[in-house]
Amino acid sequence: MVVYKSTGSWYSVKDEDGSFYKARIKGKFKIEGLTSTNPIAVGDHVKVEHDPIEDTWMITGIKDRRNYINRISPHNRHQHHIVASNLDQSLLFATLKEPKTSLGFIDRFLCTSEAYSVPAIIVFNKKDLYFPKEEDQLLRIREIYEPMGYHIAAISVVSGEGIENLMKLLSNKVTLLSGHSGVGKSSFINKVFPELGLKTLTVSDWSGKGKHSTTFAEMFDLPDGGALIDTPGIREMGIVDVPKDELSHYFREMKDLIPQCKYNNCVHINEPGCAVKEGVNDGTVSEERYISYLTIRDSIEDKSY
Ligand code: GDP
Ligand code: ZN
Repeated sequence: MVVYKSTGSWYSVKDEDGSFYKARIKGKFKIEGLTSTNPIAVGDHVKVEHDPIEDTWMITGIKDRRNYINRISPHNRHQHHIVASNLDQSLLFATLKEPKTSLGFIDRFLCTSEAYSVPAIIVFNKKDLYFPKEEDQLLRIREIYEPMGYHIAAISVVSGEGIENLMKLLSNKVTLLSGHSGVGKSSFINKVFPELGLKTLTVSDWSGKGKHSTTFAEMFDLPDGGALIDTPGIREMGIVDVPKDELSHYFREMKDLIPQCKYNNCVHINEPGCAVKEGVNDGTVSEERYISYLTIRDSIEDKSY
């Protein structure tokens, strides 16, 4: 059975026939060597048994995860929370206007996706609001990211533009949806699953405070096969498993240059003979991405490993 929703104390699981069951974790269910705060996450394939005495369903086993995405616990940097598992791809909702998503935010998301080997798609929503200035920014973004193999889409949930193509990208895949508050994720989900009636933000709510009191991820089956995992409350995925000095390995365009750096422990800042910095000079690495690299690097603690 597959876990569709987790509240921490109970889980909604679906069997192959499409029936849902409410299950709990049996006794001291523990996965060895796991330091996460949640033993079971949305997307997990689990074994469920019926307890005839209590007439309840119990999760008694878990199949190895193909992959998963983590988040650092807000209370303790050394604890992490598995957001979702067994993903085919992750989809970042972004906007160039009202509110604008920073490239740093996008790069952080992409690094996380690289670190967990989950293919990433970036969708720019609110295309109906874009003026030539934003259209130019979109072109520049395509110029930076498409050659690296990232899929960039522009849509408008309001006008419907681009939605059909996006649905094709999602069909028959399990996709994790993320993005900061106000970009239109709930509006999109409501468009795809009108029966859910999720609350959407008003303009004054963009800080995100007050919306979504829960942070539980939930999976929804798509009408044409595949599923979407929504993660309300999770705006930013921390780069939990990336040591500072390995960060450049998660920048696709830098990864290939690293072996050409003069020093094999080069962190691409002040070292002579650095192939990444040469890349910035000759345009193989965009300045925008290099700045993101420096910023994200700065945000990773030295001694967290
Ligand atoms: P979430 O925080 O990502 O779930 O964002 P919401 O779905 O709550 O949307 C935030 C605001 O953006 C709401 O006022 C939506 O009506 C608005 N919005 C969503 N999609 C679009 C769009 O394509 N165009 C425009 N102009 N506004 C949108
Ligand atoms: Zn270097």
